[in-house]
Amino acid sequence: ESLVDVTRRLCAAAAAVYGVDKDNITAGNGSDELLSMLLRCFVGPGDRVAYPVPTYSLYDTLVEIQAGVAARVPFSEDFSIPEGLASQEAPLTFLCNPNAPSGTLVALPEIVKLAGAVAGILVVDEAYVDFAATEGASSIPLIRQLPNLIVLRTLSKSFSLAGMRIGLACASADIIAGMNKVRDSYNLDRWSIAAGTAALQDWAWKRRNAGQIQHSRQRIANGGKRLGYQV
Ligand SMILES: *Cc1c(COP(=O)(O)O)cnc(C)c1O
Repeated sequence: ESLVDVTRRLCAAAAAVYGVDKDNITAGNGSDELLSMLLRCFVGPGDRVAYPVPTYSLYDTLVEIQAGVAARVPFSEDFSIPEGLASQEAPLTFLCNPNAPSGTLVALPEIVKLAGAVAGILVVDEAYVDFAATEGASSIPLIRQLPNLIVLRTLSKSFSLAGMRIGLACASADIIAGMNKVRDSYNLDRWSIAAGTAALQDWAWKRRNAGQIQHSRQRIANGGKRLGYQV
């Protein structure tokens, strides 16, 4: 089987698990590569990229590399979407959801509202969504109704496969086709593709693994509090 064929098989496995069509998915060398691809797709020198802060620090770096302008909008006090985020006239808006480092979650109706209000593409980075307490926290089902929405997933966190470098992007077939033009033809190696495909088909293992990590949350929180931190 060719590398192109096994990559297709990885995307088909992901599509089945996430309930979308295989044309709605592309794979990256980690979701970091997908973020980098998105910057190259949508942002030229001087273009704005909006995101609420504090958040994942790589957004700053990628915007700088692309000579874009970072429109960093401080989160509201309760970490809901800040008032000014949608009006930044940005071809690209990022929302890390649940957010790092706050661990806070924006609900789907707010994301629908945001996608309808931004000037360009909305990227929801769901690196931590498998740890969310709420079922149905993922924006992936919304790609059917929102043509400007891109949802990113990674197998680095809830699958503990960070060294394998497997990320996924879900969006309309048009957007995915555009991203595939920017993507390196052979951006994932066979080991990663095999690991990713197997992992996506072992949901029980993923649930157990994510559960173990969730379980450590209280212990870490208690330790932090004992050291005098506000958790
Ligand atoms: C870890 C992380 C990523 C990148 O994950 P990889 O798939 O390992 O590149 C992207 N976004 C957020 C918010 C992360 O925490």
